[in-house]
Amino acid sequence: MKKYFSLFLAAVCALGPISASAVGVNMNNTPVVMDAEPAVVNGRTLVPMRPIFEGLGAEVEWDGATKGITVSRGDKTISLYLNDTVAYINGESHQLDTPAVLINGRTMVPARFVAESLDCFVFWEPYEKCVSIFTDAEQAAAYDAKLQQMQAVRKAEAERIAAQKAEAERIAAEKAEAERIAAQKAEAEQARQGQAKAVPKSRTVYITRTGKRYHYNNSCNGGTYYASTMEDALQRGLTPCHKCVQ
Ligand SMILES: [Zn+2]
Repeated sequence: MKKYFSLFLAAVCALGPISASAVGVNMNNTPVVMDAEPAVVNGRTLVPMRPIFEGLGAEVEWDGATKGITVSRGDKTISLYLNDTVAYINGESHQLDTPAVLINGRTMVPARFVAESLDCFVFWEPYEKCVSIFTDAEQAAAYDAKLQQMQAVRKAEAERIAAQKAEAERIAAEKAEAERIAAQKAEAEQARQGQAKAVPKSRTVYITRTGKRYHYNNSCNGGTYYASTMEDALQRGLTPCHKCVQ
């Protein structure tokens, strides 16, 4: 299962090993060689402009005066401006979540917006962090199906792990309950034994008028006592004699 799983993933993202944080970009199932790393801003992936537009077969014009980027592909022309959330598709304005920005001297553009505006298809694979762009609808549909299938595998795997965890929790709870009951039982048993040992209140003890102790032995320490009861001795606040009371 695990092997199938990883092979399957490898097939979805046609990328070589990438670092855990890096976002990869595929164009028509082929990794795009980029001159700058994509950036994720406000949950949007920004990709370096040149390699992406070249990969799409689009023409790019840069206007230094307006900091404007004009991209044409087929019958679509889009215009973006650095740090401006308003873009234009064939002259029609469009609000962007994240504008094109300059990062380390490279112009970075929002991948989904530019690709979709140019009639391409864009997919985001969150686990492998890869953006896949397709210029061909059929290829895009095939990828989409693969992605769905992969997500189903991921979901099944996550469910399996959750079920395993729930089962482990259930067993732990059962064990804790059994232990609680055993402890309760032991405590009750202890109490029962303690009670059995307790001296009956009616037991005869020997005391004096002024002494602070009570005795079991009426000639303890050579003293002279009179007989009383445990109940009486306790009521008077007398404590047991260390010599004759165990
Ligand atoms: Zn005594």
